[in-house]
Amino acid sequence: MNIYLDIDGTMIHEDHWDTENQAAAGLAEFIIALRPHNTYWLTTHCRDGNPERPREIMKRFVPPELHADIDRIKPTVWDTMKTQGIDWSRDFIWFDNDISPFEWEKIEQGTEGQQAIEVNLKLNPKQLLEIARDVLS
Ligand SMILES: [Mg+2]
Repeated sequence: MNIYLDIDGTMIHEDHWDTENQAAAGLAEFIIALRPHNTYWLTTHCRDGNPERPREIMKRFVPPELHADIDRIKPTVWDTMKTQGIDWSRDFIWFDNDISPFEWEKIEQGTEGQQAIEVNLKLNPKQLLEIARDVLS
């Protein structure tokens, strides 16, 4: 199964004065739980196939022993909709805090094994931990 990862608002808090720019609870566990999966960036920090920017950002938020896991995550190429960066010939889970109605529509047209999970760290700050334990394990 392929995994697609957003960064801002999904793994790193955004838009909130007291948690802005902090790693989500359980980020390290989440990154470790991704190890068996073929994982891709699906973030505005990487839409041209260059993984350098997301790597640089994420390495600020995970301990050095997990940097190799960050380097293993592959880039995607997309333009206006993140669904353009997805390989539709395979099952996947896409984690994102901000999926547009158009993108949802596309996901709904996919197969049962092609899913998106909306992350909301404001409502559920421990969501990554739950995903690591319940979805990825
Ligand atoms: Mg986001």
